[in-house]
Parts: sequence; C-alpha cells; structure tokens
Amino acid sequence: MAEAVRPDADVVIENARQVLTCAGPAPLRGASQRLVSALAGAVVAGRNGRIVFAGPAGEADRAFRARGDARIVDARQGTVLPGFVDAHTHVVFAGDRAGELSRRLAGETYEAIGAAGGGIVETVRATRAASEDELFTLARGRLDDMLLAGTTTCEAKSGYGLDLPSELKMLRVIARLNSGHPVDVSPTFLGAHEIPLEHRETRARYIESIVDDMIPAVAASGLAEWCDVFCERGVFTPDEARAILETGRRYGLRPRIHADELGPSGGWRVAAELGARSADHLVFVDGRGARGLAAAGVVATLLPSAPLFLKLGRFAPARTLIDAGVAVALGTDVNPGGGHSPAMPFAMTLACFAMQMTLEEAIVAATVNAAYALDRQASIGSLEPGKLLDALIIAGQPADLVRIGARTIRTVVKRGRVVVEDFQLTPEARDTAWKRDAGPAGAVIA
Ligand SMILES: [Zn+2]
Repeated sequence: MAEAVRPDADVVIENARQVLTCAGPAPLRGASQRLVSALAGAVVAGRNGRIVFAGPAGEADRAFRARGDARIVDARQGTVLPGFVDAHTHVVFAGDRAGELSRRLAGETYEAIGAAGGGIVETVRATRAASEDELFTLARGRLDDMLLAGTTTCEAKSGYGLDLPSELKMLRVIARLNSGHPVDVSPTFLGAHEIPLEHRETRARYIESIVDDMIPAVAASGLAEWCDVFCERGVFTPDEARAILETGRRYGLRPRIHADELGPSGGWRVAAELGARSADHLVFVDGRGARGLAAAGVVATLLPSAPLFLKLGRFAPARTLIDAGVAVALGTDVNPGGGHSPAMPFAMTLACFAMQMTLEEAIVAATVNAAYALDRQASIGSLEPGKLLDALIIAGQPADLVRIGARTIRTVVKRGRVVVEDFQLTPEARDTAWKRDAGPAGAVIA
C-alpha cells in the first residue's frame, strides 16, 4: 500500500551536511525566531517545482521514488537553506546617482540632496524618459545579481513614475520580470514615494490624484498586490499615509508602509492602526512602537543596508522588536539612492553585526518571516512538502554567509530548476519558459 502512494520525484538534493528547513507556523517571533530546524544529512526532493519530501536520508526511500530521469543535485557536503525572500526593493529604475553618492560621501545628507531637487526626483526624470524595454533590461540585470546572492522571491515597487502612465509602465515591467526571470516578484504600487516636482506647490492635488485616479486605475489593471507610502518628515505625513492606504485597501491593494526611517515619523502607528502587513525600516521606532506593532501583528521588515549607506549612524532596534514579540523580516532595499547591495547575505550580516541579531534569527528573517511579510508563507519561505522547491546550497556552513565578498552560494534552485550552478547562472535562468508553464505570469500556484 505504502508503495503505491509514494510520490515520484523529478529533482533530488542529496549529500548535504545539513538542511535548515526553517519549518514551523509562520511567522516565527520572539524566542521562536531562532528556530531554523537544522537536519543533519537530510534530503530534499521535488516534483513539478514543489517539494515532496524534506527530511532524514534514512526515510527518503520510503517517502518518494526518484524517477529514472530525475535531476540529482549533489550538495557536496554543503548546507541547504530555503531560497531567500527579499521583502523590500525598488529594483525597477533608470539612470544612476553616482554624483549624489560622491556628495553624500563628502558629507551632504540624503534629505538635503532631496530638498535641493536631487535624490528620488532625479530618478523620476530618468525613469519617465526610459522605455518599458529599457527598464526591463536594467532591472533584469539587477535581479540576476540578487539571484546569484540566493534570492528566489522579492517584492518590487513602482514609485519613480509619480504620474499614472509612468507608474503603470513600472508595474508592467514588474509583471514582465515576474514571468521572464526566475525570481518571483510581488508587486507594490508606491505612487506616494515623493511629491513630483510639478506638484511641489500643489501637494494636496498630487495626493488627490493618487486617491482619485491612480489607485482606481492601478487596481483595475491588476498589476499590484500592495499599496505603500513613504511616511517621512518632508514627504508624506501619517494622516496623508492613512488616507492613501485606506483608499488602496478599499480597492483591494493591501497596505504596507515606509515608517520611521530618517526620523520618528509615527509611521509605525499608521501601520498598527490599519493592520498593515509590514512596517519597513523602523530605524527610529521605540519600545512603545515595538509593543504597538506586536499587538497589531505587523511584521517589521528591517533594511539595514539603508542606514549604512545613508550614514544614519544608527540601525533599527531589532532586539527591542524581537523581544516585544514582533516578527522581524529582512530586505535589501535595492534602489538607486542608498540601496547599493543586491545581496540578502549582506543585509543578514548587518542584522548580526549592527542590529545584534543572531545568525539563526537573521536566517529566519530572510526566509520564512520575509515570506510572511509578503503573505506568501503558504508557498515559500521554508523547505516543507507542498511548498515551491526554492532552495540554495552554501559551499560550507551557515556562518560562511557573513564572509561578504567570498563566493558562498554555490547553487540556487528555483521551482525545482537549477538556475545557479557553481556560482554562475545556468541556461535555465535565461530561458524561463518552464516558469510560464507553471502558472500565469509566474504567479504562485495555490
Ligand atoms: Zn523603500
């Protein structure tokens, strides 16, 4: 009888020193945020892009039957982890801000550059002028870098268009990336990223246009899952953020928010009041904010590369958040202004060495909790039967993740396909017809 129900497997990852499954009820918070569920010498097997088994090698024979033509991935005594989930990026943009970087390195602040007409506004100019194909090609290269660093799913925002046609153009690019690149992309509408130059004297009218025109059109396009606001001093106030996010929610775009990054904006309170899925950055949140977020069940998505590259001189209080019971997730914040690292291992290293998280907490934050921050915990984030077979193999131990600059992530498997092998993209990373076959626009299969 047992013989008859053994599933076939078309891919098997074997010969691992250990497998960190990160299994458990998502999100993992408080003391549970350290539970990576390490299994020595375990095997992971999949069929049609989904995991059929993740467990001890001794149980593998009884649990599945490898097809004759199954792809055998030799972990060579390395460590197998779930693919990383990057819960916050601005990966679609044109132009570069190298000049601004020089000014910031010479001492000017991000806010001063923005007030003088640089910063986001400069990227808006270039992104409006770029064609959809140009934006796609630029962003695809950035997703390649993220994939090589182990990211198999990410979030991506609009927000460099700041008018309806340009915002929709960015969201169409995100949809093309989702189907045309191995990395699955969760799309966010961020029309409230900045007040565009043409509305600097008429900011109320820009907010009206977001609420009355952009959100209904974006919702009708079906191109966004989330609505986000940059709630920060000099950008959008908590009241404006609340109005925009409430409108988005009425149209089916679920709220997330940039909160308390450059100063105590009070964005965390908006997140808690609205029950946002995630409040992001939180560099200036305090103990009261941490307790408020915990009570509301909001995930804290921390992006420590941002305060590093913006030279804020401080980082989000990860320990306060974890101790208060907030589930902490991580992202890279890839963007042209201060998001210079595409690598989740770099964000994890900063989580450990600048935010006092343990390596296990950082791994959970980069996998199952980040999946939860995107409401994809049912299909990704851990190595458990039924989820997508998204995994990476470290050529060594988990601690090797902090050896920034050394080659660490040797293999990446996306939906059961080997897309990075021996530290390089494979042909299957370039031709993603296999992904389109798996569902419309690379959508997560229910
Ligand atoms: Zn951001």
